[in-house]
Amino acid sequence: MDHGEDRGERDQDHLVDLIRRRWKQDQFSPEIIRRVEGILDINTVEHRVPGAESARGFLPITSLASHSCASNSIKDKTNPKFVITRARTKILKGEEITFHYTGGLKGRFMRRKALKAGWFFWCSCSRCSSPSEQGSEINTLICSSCSGLVRPVSPLDQESIYSCEGCKDELSAKEAENREQELTKQLESFYRKKGFLRSSSWMGWRRAWS
Ligand SMILES: [Zn+2]
Ligand SMILES: [Zn+2]
Repeated sequence: MDHGEDRGERDQDHLVDLIRRRWKQDQFSPEIIRRVEGILDINTVEHRVPGAESARGFLPITSLASHSCASNSIKDKTNPKFVITRARTKILKGEEITFHYTGGLKGRFMRRKALKAGWFFWCSCSRCSSPSEQGSEINTLICSSCSGLVRPVSPLDQESIYSCEGCKDELSAKEAENREQELTKQLESFYRKKGFLRSSSWMGWRRAWS
């Protein structure tokens, strides 16, 4: 899979020029260079360990794993020489192994847009399909009128309105996305505070958006 039709041609043309003209490897046609680059980009996995060289590679399990925002595996990034795929939930025989291609703590808009931009699909996993993100409420806003929970009405639709379960007030997708961006900035400033990550429980991440 290379998603050639989805990928912009500008970067690929630069690569074709680099390989064929500057490196003088014109035995490779532009088409084959674009195809190989696409296959590498979509199917390889980056492995970056603090203090060690960064690399990309085809991995026997992880490169074949589909994405899920509620993935059942993680990449263990503690060893610079090996990528270790570890189960993070009980995985039954025959069950698909999934991992998260981006960051699991990203908000709904940012997370789904990153997947669309990098892997060319709108995620429809169990978490993205759930207005409450499977009860985590990680993307739920708090209503400024009644303090009720405000969630997307059609979570797989990026243009979906958000509705308050209490007073039924509505937010447009654009308003909800703006709040996500504001609150992401606030969260990121918390992340940077020394000791915050160690002292936080999962519920500490819950977004009290008002
Ligand atoms: Zn998802
Ligand atoms: Zn309300």
